[in-house]
Amino acid sequence: MKGQETQRESILIVDDSEMNRSILADMLLDEFDITEAEDGAQAIDILQREGGKFSLVLLDIVMPNVDGFGVLLEMNRTRAIEDLPVIMISSETASAQIERAYELGATDFIIRPFDAAIVHRRVLNTILLYTKQKKLIGIIEAQINEKEQNNSLMVDILSHIVEFRNGESGLHILHVRTITDHLLRKLAKKTDKYALTDWEISIIGMASALHDIGKIGIDDKILNKPGKLTPEEFAVMKTHSMIGARMLEGLTVHKGNPLIRKAYEICRWHHERYDGRGYPDGLKGDEIPISAQIVALADVYDALTSERVYKPPFSHEAALQMIQNGECGAFNPLLLECLSEEAELIRASLAAEAGGRIPRHEIRNFTDATLHAKGTSASDRTLKLLDYERMKFNFYAELTEEIQFEYIVESDLLKLSPWGAKKFGVTTEIVCPAKSKELCEQLGAAWFEGLRAYYFKRITPENAEFHHECLLKIGGEERWYNVIMRAMFTDDIPPRIGSVIGKLVDIHEVHTAMEELRESSIRDPLTGLLNRAGALEEIEQKLKNYPERKYTLAVFDIDKFKNANDEYGHLFGDKVLCEVAERVMHNTRAGDVCARIGGDEFLIVFEHTVEIQPIVARIFHAICGKVGDFDLTVSMGIAEMTEEGESYKEIFRRADLALYVCKNAGRASYTFYDPSME
Ligand code: GH3
Ligand code: MG
Repeated sequence: MKGQETQRESILIVDDSEMNRSILADMLLDEFDITEAEDGAQAIDILQREGGKFSLVLLDIVMPNVDGFGVLLEMNRTRAIEDLPVIMISSETASAQIERAYELGATDFIIRPFDAAIVHRRVLNTILLYTKQKKLIGIIEAQINEKEQNNSLMVDILSHIVEFRNGESGLHILHVRTITDHLLRKLAKKTDKYALTDWEISIIGMASALHDIGKIGIDDKILNKPGKLTPEEFAVMKTHSMIGARMLEGLTVHKGNPLIRKAYEICRWHHERYDGRGYPDGLKGDEIPISAQIVALADVYDALTSERVYKPPFSHEAALQMIQNGECGAFNPLLLECLSEEAELIRASLAAEAGGRIPRHEIRNFTDATLHAKGTSASDRTLKLLDYERMKFNFYAELTEEIQFEYIVESDLLKLSPWGAKKFGVTTEIVCPAKSKELCEQLGAAWFEGLRAYYFKRITPENAEFHHECLLKIGGEERWYNVIMRAMFTDDIPPRIGSVIGKLVDIHEVHTAMEELRESSIRDPLTGLLNRAGALEEIEQKLKNYPERKYTLAVFDIDKFKNANDEYGHLFGDKVLCEVAERVMHNTRAGDVCARIGGDEFLIVFEHTVEIQPIVARIFHAICGKVGDFDLTVSMGIAEMTEEGESYKEIFRRADLALYVCKNAGRASYTFYDPSME
């Protein structure tokens, strides 16, 4: 029990209304541990202290102090948003607000008033999805830790040779890389001026490690001189950027390699200044590649905050101040902005790196790059899995004798299972199925129209399934099918139907059996007339569908029928009943309702005509008359519907009363209801 409890996921509910919090908490308490925050400020505080324990945040938008957007902004700043899904819950329906929430990284948006089941399902789905993603990242993390370590081993060895000769601490290269990465990511968020993709960011990060490689070519004495360099020595020192660039240029085999190209930019231009007063080429502003601009800033920042033979480490604040004051060179103002905004996070990352393992943000870069780049191992893996699923699907599809289909909306393409295609007598892939003559002939021309008009309009991501029974003439044979469909929605906002999958299940046998069963429940097996229940159903249907029409109801009972049974036997009695049914059917119209409602008791409902008496007389005389030796007569009571909306029960009661009177009056006759009988 205890073990189970520790595995429960935690959810943070942020809403200023206690009522709202309590409603949400009640919905989720059974399965999750709930923490509540009364406003954005409290939420930020809780996330800062124990953010790691939550699996999900449910976040209101409008709140005092800090609102929902404020919380999202903070989560972006701390990157918590990357690992912790947020579902917004708000009565806000303005699309700009919803869009903003999504832009700030919200995973989902639920509009109030909401349905408990929907909230529950979305919460579960989101948590599940993130758990899967976390697992995936975990796997890739492990691979990358290994692969990346191998990959960067050479880079590390090279750069450490430089550091070793340089007398710098081994951490400098790692630090420059970390700072570079932070600045790049921040910059990419701020502007798309430099078109920085995730892939490029990770390449620049790795290339940054080679920024000082040219120092290999600098005399040891100058490189490690404890005091200040003379102008001549400094001139030699400055050549390291060109030396590094040339070394990389010399790698003719790898010239086109993106890593080498970036490393070249960085080596050659990481001592240029934004104001044009740097070396070796005196480039100015954005003439300097952004990779080199960033590494230059990272280099200075780390140099200031690290201890060197000639200086103690400055604090992060002091370093920041010195750079902003222009004491350490001239930089792109946009990058200075990035630096001051990221300073806190950079400091945290550098501290974490002291532990020696590859920093998490770096892993995330690679994970992202791996997941996004085409033809990389992760995509390959995903494609392989998809292929596997497709093979499995096709295998089963070929085995089952079912008409399975997949309709891809965008390309207006219908794919049929092999068996389905055979059944229809068409190919397995049909473009514009609504225009296929073969399909339309078999499904009925309006079928696709109906699908669009009915199904596509009503279906939602929460309720994407549709079942429909219909009689279709497929392969020349008319049979009952159950059409089962499910729409697959896209990730767009709002979601669109990307494709519809489904199958036609042959339910002809089942359907006919059901029909027979139904028939047997409403029909008298001996005479084939409706039974009491069938009569009731049919008459009520009539009264409901045509309430304006008037009806007449006749009930009749065979006279002295016991005698027929007693004298000639039960089988003969049955024959008499069948004969009565026959005579009734012959003398009524198709629209009339005829039923055997008891042992020897029958019922007829006629639609009202101008004069009912002659019709009743004709039917009465047609029914009476010898059956074998039995002199068949009946007693009949008749009642008319007197007002619209009158119930069947009421009319029947009056007809039955008339029948009673008729029997008492001596039988073998018919009697119309009269209020005096009451
Ligand atoms: P009354 O003129 O008063 O109607 O006299 P009756 O003898 O017809 O009496 P009643 O209507 O009460 O009797 C109906 C009889 O019908 C009783 C029952 O034995 C007989 N009966 C009911 N169902 C069947 C059936 O399915 N087959 C046969 N052969 N007889 C049936
Ligand atoms: Mg009778």
